[in-house]
Amino acid sequence: MADREALERLFTKHGCEAFTWIEAADIVVAQWVRVKCLFGCDEYGMNATCPPHVPAVDECKRFFGEYTTAVVFHFPKRLDDPDARHDWGKSVNASLLALEREVFLAGYHKAFALFMSSCGLCNECPGVPEECRHPESARPTAEGLAMDVFSTVRKCGLPIEVLATYDEPMNRYAFLLVE
Ligand code: SF4
Repeated sequence: MADREALERLFTKHGCEAFTWIEAADIVVAQWVRVKCLFGCDEYGMNATCPPHVPAVDECKRFFGEYTTAVVFHFPKRLDDPDARHDWGKSVNASLLALEREVFLAGYHKAFALFMSSCGLCNECPGVPEECRHPESARPTAEGLAMDVFSTVRKCGLPIEVLATYDEPMNRYAFLLVE
């Protein structure tokens, strides 16, 4: 059983102040998410943590099924400069990684973070896992593991909408699987 109060102190310490505990069984995994990666995403094959360098959808479903508890981290943001989203994503991902490590060291051996945006820890990604510069730090996104983020966060009553322009306020999400 997770010591939620102690973990929540770690979340806050790492800048993840808006969080919701969920049952991992409430995570929705869907084939259409993977198809959206294959067709229409300009990062397909360009990042070593994105499809096609991830498990098949059925394996992703099995992976999530091996956990009972997860945390949704909500990052609402509006950026005046759309290009600033890359640096913002990189910094949030680095915090999530540091958080995952502390949660692991606190005794949760299965702790696993799903980044808010595609890895981006390096300025340029070689795009293949064999050449990843920081394999110990690279993590996939939730959508990279075929999670239907829209359905999953809406189940918790959290806001998420399709955005038509870059200057609209964003509701971005990251996840931590804990056990
Ligand atoms: S750590 Fe660097 S090389 Fe590895 S997936 Fe992330 S951005 Fe790419």
